[in-house]
Amino acid sequence: MSTALGNAVAPELPPDPRLAELRAELGDAVRVDAEALDAARADKSGQVSRTRPLAVIEATTVEQVQATMRFATAHRIPVVPRGAGTGLAGAAIGGAGELVLSVRGMDRILEVSVDDELAVVQPGVLNGELNAQLAERGLWWAPDPASKAISTVGGNIATNAGGLLCVKYGVTREAVLGLRVVLADGRLLSMGHRSVKGVTGYDLTALMVGSEGTLGVVVEATLRLQPLPRGGVATISAAFPTVELAARAASDIMARGVRPAIMELLDASALEAIGDYLDLDLGGRGAQLLVQTDGSGAEAEADQAVAIIRSLGGEAEVTSDRAEGERLFDIRRCFHPAMEARGTVLIEDVAVPRSALPAMFAAIQRIEATYGISIPTVAHAGDGNLHPNFVFARGGAETIGGDVPEQIWAAADELFLACLRLGGTLTGEHGIGLLKKRWLRDELGDDGFALQKQLKQVFDPLGILNPGKVF
Ligand SMILES: Cc1cc2nc3c(=O)[nH]c(=O)nc-3n(C[C@H](O)[C@H](O)[C@H](O)COP(=O)(O)OP(=O)(O)OC[C@H]3O[C@@H](n4cnc5c(N)ncnc54)[C@H](O)[C@@H]3O)c2cc1C
Repeated sequence: MSTALGNAVAPELPPDPRLAELRAELGDAVRVDAEALDAARADKSGQVSRTRPLAVIEATTVEQVQATMRFATAHRIPVVPRGAGTGLAGAAIGGAGELVLSVRGMDRILEVSVDDELAVVQPGVLNGELNAQLAERGLWWAPDPASKAISTVGGNIATNAGGLLCVKYGVTREAVLGLRVVLADGRLLSMGHRSVKGVTGYDLTALMVGSEGTLGVVVEATLRLQPLPRGGVATISAAFPTVELAARAASDIMARGVRPAIMELLDASALEAIGDYLDLDLGGRGAQLLVQTDGSGAEAEADQAVAIIRSLGGEAEVTSDRAEGERLFDIRRCFHPAMEARGTVLIEDVAVPRSALPAMFAAIQRIEATYGISIPTVAHAGDGNLHPNFVFARGGAETIGGDVPEQIWAAADELFLACLRLGGTLTGEHGIGLLKKRWLRDELGDDGFALQKQLKQVFDPLGILNPGKVF
């Protein structure tokens, strides 16, 4: 697929005559109007395909998904599964000759079992909507991306989404018991179980989680729920003179057995950008660490964390007011829009072992100095997962939106190699998509890369599911 970053005007093409067959079966669910086609050219990564897809299928039933895949198989037409399109890796965008299969309209909660602590849902339900309904029953689904209000459960599953609370409550893979998946040829396959335990056969559910729409279309999910955490929260806001000290504090807090529910780190340029965006005075400090502890031991754990913070030269303030804590994390959640307000963004997602967090921040500073650029970075520090952002000038329409400058790719390349040397991984939660596939082989090695491609062929022998993404 040919893509660019930023906005671009795609040429209008006449509808593909083969679509008449699909229209006869699915009617108005097959959209070829400019509004639908243009929306499907982009996600939130900044990537935009240069050409419109053939059509967007707005499926509302499993049968419609199956009919789409049977049609695509018969005609060898590529299909891009799509939820809410909030992905940050360019994995949900459709382009020339492709169908985009949106399951956003399949948004029903089919069952909630309090006794078994599980929910059965369709893929298009938004994470935040599901959790609002579960809260009435004293339950929640733990995956907690900062995009929870706007991203779908199916998208969270397909990207193995993480988020703020995942440091204590786990990422998506730990919260999915079973799936129903439509395969490339239209067959419907059930995998996984409703029981807490289950090891029958290979764990296809785990394989599907994080597969970025390349192995099948998730049409139903059985989710593992947790009781809502009881007791209060304590939220620490700590300012540090340098980002390395803040990173060391985060690493030490975990190493000494404290289990924060959330631990987020913002470096100086991230604070400055958010401050500008919200018109708040956040500048003038080297870094900020936000820590929240919860449950019956919240205060004692907060005391331990504060002692570690102060021993490393941090200045900490603590509040037990839940609303004030939420206000601080809402400021953190503004990082992405604050970056978008500055230009075109290439957002990275490296993850390192927690003890390597200070070294990874030091590597980012070295790369900033080498290339003469600023790389504002926030981190889910308790998970060792960093989001360094490269921001560059928007291009004009004539340049089709300003592709990533070579200097930025070179800096990103150094960043990934530094991460891999520290025992880390290319992506902690956003996925490979289009943006990181150039480094996939570096991490997997030749044999691992070849084996993964073979696995893809088993599920999708014609290569019609989200081709060009991941591999
Ligand atoms: C402001 C902001 C904050 C964010 N914060 C976080 C964060 O904290 N943590 C995090 O992990 N991510 C975060 N994200 C990224 C994004 O929200 C997640 O990746 C999310 O899981 C994508 O869900 P979606 O419904 O938008 O999926 P889409 O973007 O539509 O699709 C993403 C991928 O999933 C595939 N897919 C979608 N639905 C299905 C399905 N039913 N079956 C098969 N494949 C499917 C697509 O093909 C694509 O590969 C953030 C994004 C934004 C804009």
